[in-house]
Amino acid sequence: MVVAYKHEPFTDYTVEENKQALLKAIKEVEADMGKDYPLIIGGERITTEDKIVSVNPAKKDEIVGYVSKANQDLAEKAMQVADQTFETWRKSDPKVRADILFRAAAIVRRRKLEFTARLIKEGGKPWKEADADVAEGIDFLEYYGRQMLKLKDGVPVNSRPIEYNQYNYIPLGVGVVISPWNFLFAIMAGTTVAAMVTGNTVLLKPASSTPVIAYKLMEVLEEAGMPAGVVNYIPGPGSEVGDYLVDHPRTRFVSFTGSRAVGTRIFERAAKIQDGQKWLKRTIIEMGGKDTIVVDNEADLELAAQSIVQSAFGFSGQKCSACSRAVIHEDVYDHVKDRVVELTKELTVGNPSDANNLFMGPVIDQAAYDKITGYIDIGKNEGELLVGGEGDDSIGWFVNPTVFGDVDPEARIMQEEIFGPVVALTKAKNFDEAIDIANNTEYGLTGAVITNNRAHQEQARQDFHVGNLYFNRGCTAAIVGYQPFGGFNMSGTDSKAGGPDYLVQHMQGKTTSEMF
Ligand code: NAP
Repeated sequence: MVVAYKHEPFTDYTVEENKQALLKAIKEVEADMGKDYPLIIGGERITTEDKIVSVNPAKKDEIVGYVSKANQDLAEKAMQVADQTFETWRKSDPKVRADILFRAAAIVRRRKLEFTARLIKEGGKPWKEADADVAEGIDFLEYYGRQMLKLKDGVPVNSRPIEYNQYNYIPLGVGVVISPWNFLFAIMAGTTVAAMVTGNTVLLKPASSTPVIAYKLMEVLEEAGMPAGVVNYIPGPGSEVGDYLVDHPRTRFVSFTGSRAVGTRIFERAAKIQDGQKWLKRTIIEMGGKDTIVVDNEADLELAAQSIVQSAFGFSGQKCSACSRAVIHEDVYDHVKDRVVELTKELTVGNPSDANNLFMGPVIDQAAYDKITGYIDIGKNEGELLVGGEGDDSIGWFVNPTVFGDVDPEARIMQEEIFGPVVALTKAKNFDEAIDIANNTEYGLTGAVITNNRAHQEQARQDFHVGNLYFNRGCTAAIVGYQPFGGFNMSGTDSKAGGPDYLVQHMQGKTTSEMF
């Protein structure tokens, strides 16, 4: 019997021994950088001339790896392999599939420092964030393995005399998994193994900025006993490989995490029936957020300021759950604003490989840098720039933590996802208005309310329309199996990653009824 699930503990890098161990791992990963990585289709390594060049966003001339790039022909080859492999994999014992996940978790846990160092290099993640990303990936492996064991015999249904009814879950078919770069290990791994442990075969297309870590997951899954062809690794441009596979008539489902623009495009394209297609494709689509922290007038104001700063600037605001707007009761607005500014001024920004415990590293690439600094320019006309506002893209892509005050709730920086270290503050006359403002975007991913007023807390529970609502804490850092994660409205299909309903979305219920 497997032991009860518990989330992976985080590492304290203020402990000298832990710090030295990670510094050593960073050196070892540096020595391993700049290698070639092939595609993996049906277990076969395929090298292409054309490469994706993965770079360290903190030091753009440092090459993490050269990764072979799939095109439509290779995507078609991968589809055929996955389609054939499905015929055996769908009949595999769910316990064996779960064991592959448990063994993979053990392998990653043993190589945790190496994986953490890889995320620091390829994702530009500060130490704490890289450690949390690896821990979350381990959690997905452990949690989904256990969930599959719960689901493997289906769920009980009623039977009448001389009748035996059963209700079981069977896999869907070939799933296309398209992952983002921000949780380059956790989300990529979680969405892949959820699709695979449920008996589907997978075409994994990781984000083009972070393909090397996905190759490392492939190595782990192979070592853990995954048969060839179950997960196929096909990095390549979303616009070419992504569209081709989403449109493919043999694609049975798409599991996507990324931006609203790409998510809605996939949703539309997947709905179109192609020649030879025999099913309605299922889509699991998790998109962006415009996440709000509401501060009441009866609240711990230090907690409010700390929560805003941590949630806005952790991993440079590049989390779908990041706080990008704070709605503050007018009675306490000035106090909270001043404290947010003070705390923000204390933050350090720099290359996370060079020193430990830097709070913020770079943003992921030039496009992100340009987009974020573009929004900072917009913000200068929409509110008062209180702190930050500068960037430096000479060596890596760095943007200083930026706070705007007195921003109109309808302003662009209050409505559009910036996905960078920028937070806008606004004033509300009372708690009702604060909740109205919090709800006035098209998203509905996370939110937090800082209040000591129980009635207001209950009001928010009913009226603050977000998939993950937190009280008296920040709005980031959901834990697998503890705070299932996913949003409403244009934040996605609310599939709740790391929750008890997640795996079922990768399967279909089959009823059998036998008369004796
Ligand atoms: P993105 O630009 O939408 O890319 C996500 C993935 O989609 C990448 O693998 C990308 O490939 C691929 N893609 C691009 N165009 C495609 C197309 N036409 N067809 C199929 N796939 C295509 O998002 P991102 O910048 O990587 O990630 C940031 C976004 O993800 C933010 O909006 C954030 O809020 C959201 N996010 C949401 C959640 C959640 O749980 N709700 C979690 C994390 C992130 P290429 O890299 O090759 O372009």
